Amino acid sequence: MTMRGIPLWAWAAAAALYLAAAAAAMEFAWHRGLDALTDAGAHRLDLYAASLRSELGRYEILPALAARQDSIKTLLEAPRDSRRALLPAVNGYLEAVNKDAGSVAVDVIDLNGDVIAASNWNQPVSFVGTNVAYRPYFIDSISTGSGRFFGIGTNTGEPGLYFASAVRGGQKVLGAAAVKISVDPLEHAWRVPNEAAMVVDGNGVVVISTVPAWKFTALAPIAAQKQAQIQATRQYAGRKVEALGYERLDDWRNGAWFARLPDRAHPGRERRYLVMSRSAPQAGDAIMVVLDLSAARRQQQLAFAFVTGAFLIAALYALYAVQRRRVIAERLKAQDALQRANDRLEATVQQRTAALVTANERMQEEIDERARTEQKLRDSQQELVHAGKLAVLGQMAAGLTHEINQPLVAIRTLCDNARTFFERDQPAQAIANLERVGKLVENMAVLTAELKAFARKPETQTVPVPLGDAVAHARLIYEARIRDEGVHVDVDIAPDAIVEAEPGRLQQVIVNLLGNALDALAGRDERRIRIGARRADDPARVMFFIADNGPGIDPQVLAHLFEPFVTTKPRGHGLGLGLAITSRIVEGFGARISAANPDGGGAQFSIEFVAAESRQ
Ligand code: ADP
Repeated sequence: MTMRGIPLWAWAAAAALYLAAAAAAMEFAWHRGLDALTDAGAHRLDLYAASLRSELGRYEILPALAARQDSIKTLLEAPRDSRRALLPAVNGYLEAVNKDAGSVAVDVIDLNGDVIAASNWNQPVSFVGTNVAYRPYFIDSISTGSGRFFGIGTNTGEPGLYFASAVRGGQKVLGAAAVKISVDPLEHAWRVPNEAAMVVDGNGVVVISTVPAWKFTALAPIAAQKQAQIQATRQYAGRKVEALGYERLDDWRNGAWFARLPDRAHPGRERRYLVMSRSAPQAGDAIMVVLDLSAARRQQQLAFAFVTGAFLIAALYALYAVQRRRVIAERLKAQDALQRANDRLEATVQQRTAALVTANERMQEEIDERARTEQKLRDSQQELVHAGKLAVLGQMAAGLTHEINQPLVAIRTLCDNARTFFERDQPAQAIANLERVGKLVENMAVLTAELKAFARKPETQTVPVPLGDAVAHARLIYEARIRDEGVHVDVDIAPDAIVEAEPGRLQQVIVNLLGNALDALAGRDERRIRIGARRADDPARVMFFIADNGPGIDPQVLAHLFEPFVTTKPRGHGLGLGLAITSRIVEGFGARISAANPDGGGAQFSIEFVAAESRQ
């Protein structure tokens, strides 16, 4: 099974390889991306820790300096009712210090926790008169000498970092000086794309955050008891600290870990981030950076795209190569097939040629054989014709004997008489007798000449022969029979009845037909023979006929009349060859013979000859 000329297993292997390569590349890119993120995160944490340290260090000293101020000490030492006169100077000092330091407020707290002087003494919202006895920074500073605290101002509602130092008069603690600074500049400075930074205090509450929504939320849900404690310090201005919805997931390298947090960009949704932290004791508990995974994901996508692209190119190249190979293979196959077909064709042609050659040779042999047979046939035909002629001669012998005997007897008588006439000295009569003898001898000579001509072997060349001559010669042969048997012969031959024939053979034909007619008339009372010839409607033809008033042709014989050895004559009288020979001779002239019993009775033989002039 193949697809586009590549076996399915190769496709499957390529797909598996692709999936493995894509997975490996994505994994690698993911690791690389995360490593880059953690590097950046570590760098950020260093930076933020340093900035936090320097920022806080700047203000940490401020309450300690204020605590050394004599005017403040004096104020705290002075009885409650005599403080009023001292206040303007202290307030003025605090105001000036606050302004110089850039803090939110600087104030002085007595041992009761009451704020008695503040830099914002003349502001609409002033710290003066506020009691901060419950605030840990105050409590810590009185008891340990210094305190720090992240919290939301109870008066102002603004979050800030509080530092406090105890004010001492000799060994005695008189009260405390405190400064509140804003974390806004830090949050501003830390705001960078694709990451969030926050500071978590000891309670696990986010006190500085570049994401405003996360501020004053707890990483872990705060237990009810702790919640009550926080409420007591009013650390977050009495707010209930909600849980951020932070869930620590699996750890990553370099001290980073994955965590689920609310999506920064889409409130209400959650998202996975990479988190790193660094302890920051001066700020509370820890600084955390929350890093977007999008950069790593992008690297992953890039790796995927790269691998996919590379595979696509490789696949396309493979397809192209396979296609090319297939085209070449097909071309070769087609060439091969063509060559084979050609070879086959050549072999077939050779076979056929050989078969043709043998067939040709066989045919040539057959032709030769036919020619030989034909020659033999012709020879035997000639023999037959000759034999027929001899047979007729035999038949004619009796007639001839009579024909010759009669003149011989007449000559004998005429000679005897001539001698007598000479003896009686009557030479005129004797000469007349001798002349008659000469005439008779001449007639006999004609007769023998005809017989010789008849017995002669035939020539095959045809020449123009007047039918009248041929009939006259034939008639001469049968002259004695005609006369003796009292046959009335009626001849009507047109002078232009000249036909293409060989004279000897034509004579043989007419002798045959005349003989047959005479035979048929034997025993008849009235004996008549009609012989006629004339040009046919087609001037190239001459119609000849010989008819008798005999009994007609035996119907049983009629159909086979021109076949050899067909005869009705008694043994010794007929061989049945006459008409067979006649028809062959006639065919040899290009003529046609036919026989019929006409309505008037008797028999009629007709021959359609080729007219002599028509032969060019
Ligand atoms: P043959 O004369 O030796 O019998 P032919 O071939 O000449 O042989 O004639 C064949 C037969 O045709 C004769 O035996 C005869 O029956 C018939 N035949 C030929 N000519 C005539 C004719 N003029 N009238 C009637 N029958 C004829």
